[in-house]
Amino acid sequence: MNKYFDYAASTPVSFEVIEAMEAWLRESFANPSAAHVEAENASNAIQVARESIAERIGSMPSEVIFTSGASEANNMAIKGIAFSHLNDKGHIITSSIEHKCIINTCAFLESIGFEVTYLEPEHTGLITTESVAAAIREDTLLITIHHVNNELGCIQPIAEIGDLAFSSDIPFHTDSAQGFCKLDIDVDDMNIDMLSLSGHKIFGPKGIGALYVRNARDSELVPLIHGGGQELGLRGGTSPTPLIVGLGAAVDHFPTTPSQQHSYFERVIERYNYKRNGGDNVVPTIWNVTFKDDAEVQRFTSEQAWLISQGSACNALSNMPSHVLTAIGLSDDEARRTYRVSLPPFHVKG
Ligand SMILES: *Cc1c(COP(=O)(O)O)cnc(C)c1O
Repeated sequence: MNKYFDYAASTPVSFEVIEAMEAWLRESFANPSAAHVEAENASNAIQVARESIAERIGSMPSEVIFTSGASEANNMAIKGIAFSHLNDKGHIITSSIEHKCIINTCAFLESIGFEVTYLEPEHTGLITTESVAAAIREDTLLITIHHVNNELGCIQPIAEIGDLAFSSDIPFHTDSAQGFCKLDIDVDDMNIDMLSLSGHKIFGPKGIGALYVRNARDSELVPLIHGGGQELGLRGGTSPTPLIVGLGAAVDHFPTTPSQQHSYFERVIERYNYKRNGGDNVVPTIWNVTFKDDAEVQRFTSEQAWLISQGSACNALSNMPSHVLTAIGLSDDEARRTYRVSLPPFHVKG
């Protein structure tokens, strides 16, 4: 059995995606913004991918803005709103268990005069709608709460938070790198104004993702990358046709059933003494487990040479306990005994 159990950190590129990309790498390399027939072909292929993504989230194709990944999409959403309030500044609501690219973007905005509330989760990792409601201020510019937690697998009540944001007239952004394609999403039903997604978390290539922006054509988002007017002027740079086509193919071919690795994992993990973190409302493909004691960790790591993360991949190189595990109340000692096993993602029917 394949020993790779770190799909929340990255997935391989599927066969169908490579197939779809190939011609755009080898043959049809024209700049999609140029004014000739090869360019028009590329531009059409990009439009097809945009439609696939839009269909998955219930948006218009014109509301999907391609970026280099979810990190850029998150930066674009948060800084894009903040930079349109550079003079008057204001307040942002997020949580203490967001991905580091959101935490660090918010910390940067604090350093230039914005105020940020980092909501603490329940011990399960849940961010309650009540806590968001209590944090809203007169000058709140944005609520940004992730969809599925990348370390715990817990699913946040984004439809409820979206409803609250809508009735409070505050834009709502969600980082859905771990939710897109895996769970049903409808940006209208869920009152989501911006949503970030990433290619390499869904068997697509690295270096591509997107930000859904409600009414993107009339959006006041300030671009991070000014350029030649690509992506409605919201994100400059020559559109990477192969990567975009790959992202579209990844959406079209996203698995709808668990892989064999899943049943294998469930059989093996039952041999150990652990508790699963993240509460009851978790995705089936992310397991955050704390082993009972050091001896149990020893037994597990010596018997199973799995490629997994302690905390998340982003923390693996530092010796600090993950900020997410600390936030749900684990001691440093418990955090050291905690591992994230992540299985090949698939679409879970709502
Ligand atoms: C992987 C991930 C990101 C970063 O995505 P990139 O496309 O690698 O920039 C952001 N947020 C979450 C929740 C993720 O899992």
